[in-house]
Amino acid sequence: MYSVDGGMTKTINIKQMKIDIIAGARPNFIKIAPIISEIKKAIKKGNDISYRLIHTGQHYDSNMSGSFFEQLEISLPDINLNVGSGTQAEQTSAIMIGYEKVLSSSDSNLCLVVGDVTSTMACAIVAKKRNIKVVHVEAGIRSDDMTMPEEINRIVTDSITDYFFTTTLRAGQNLIKQGIPNSKIFFVGNVMIDTLNKFRAKFFKPTIWDELRLEKKQFILLTMHRPANVDEELLLGCFLNEIVNTSKGLPVIFPIHPRTKKIISKLNIDLDQLHIIAPLSYLEFNYLAENAKVVITDSGGITEETTVMGVPCITLRDNTERPETVVLGTNELIGTNPDNIRPAMDKIFSNQWKSGSIPEKWDGKAAKRIVKILLNF
Ligand code: UDP
Repeated sequence: MYSVDGGMTKTINIKQMKIDIIAGARPNFIKIAPIISEIKKAIKKGNDISYRLIHTGQHYDSNMSGSFFEQLEISLPDINLNVGSGTQAEQTSAIMIGYEKVLSSSDSNLCLVVGDVTSTMACAIVAKKRNIKVVHVEAGIRSDDMTMPEEINRIVTDSITDYFFTTTLRAGQNLIKQGIPNSKIFFVGNVMIDTLNKFRAKFFKPTIWDELRLEKKQFILLTMHRPANVDEELLLGCFLNEIVNTSKGLPVIFPIHPRTKKIISKLNIDLDQLHIIAPLSYLEFNYLAENAKVVITDSGGITEETTVMGVPCITLRDNTERPETVVLGTNELIGTNPDNIRPAMDKIFSNQWKSGSIPEKWDGKAAKRIVKILLNF
């Protein structure tokens, strides 16, 4: 403790680490949950560390935000910037203005960002310009596809990050190629899997299970939200038709992302086997993922979860920033041509899909490693 005026009134604790944890969108909540849980444990043990959770409001309703806080036992955000929806630039600027105001009234000494969403990049820039150290969890992954907004977020964030926590050795190699010294890179594993492992026993059936009398391994789970796949109505329509046509009569459950919902409403699609439902809570979604015959997706995080659960996963993308899910896991990239769906589905139905293995350090202990390292800074 250091007293600026001889200990009479105001005391500044120069040792205490004050961390801002930034979260704005669905995959962020899943990643911060175990980190906050470990920080709380460290505080309980008497470590001089504190945090405030800053929700940017990029995703804001119960389906995309609130239910994750409840189910993953995340305490409510200390600050909510309430930026709401908007274009990339509208959201980026609103988050930057909001976070700068927060820091102007009360600084922190570390800004921890996760993943690759707009909030990740926007808050990293604001913090760095105020000379606050930036910590990036899930640093270094690259799709090498500059048409993805997430790839731009990753590259910008990593270019100003001070400490890099990585999910794989390859992510660390990507950073080294970029000129980052090895001493700033920490291979800790995957916080998304921490959450998966911790909550797996609590997954439960969504109401659609009984409504449709679903049975284990007798349905297909679908998610799509990448601009390249869903922004063109015609392409989206072709994907959906082809998935239903090749699913051998099994129901296709499609919890729909708000971005995709906007487009699909123009499509007038009416396919008996296709069940479009609201986004599911984490515990319900992963109940379906764990029990699906196959998951078809263009999400990144879901390919990691299916890899760990050993569920076949078809990815409708030409590239991935998570190659381990393909090389080691159960994921296969089939590109963005709907004609590629049939051969992949034939492989699923003839039981020729690979069984896969779990990447190194995807063991549920990543957040523990992260907080241990933070305490040593
Ligand atoms: N997810 C969920 N409900 C849904 C769809 C996905 O809880 O209806 C979870 C999923 O288990 C994964 C995360 O959301 O943990 C993935 O989010 P998203 O696909 O939006 O982001 P990405 O991983 O592509 O960045």
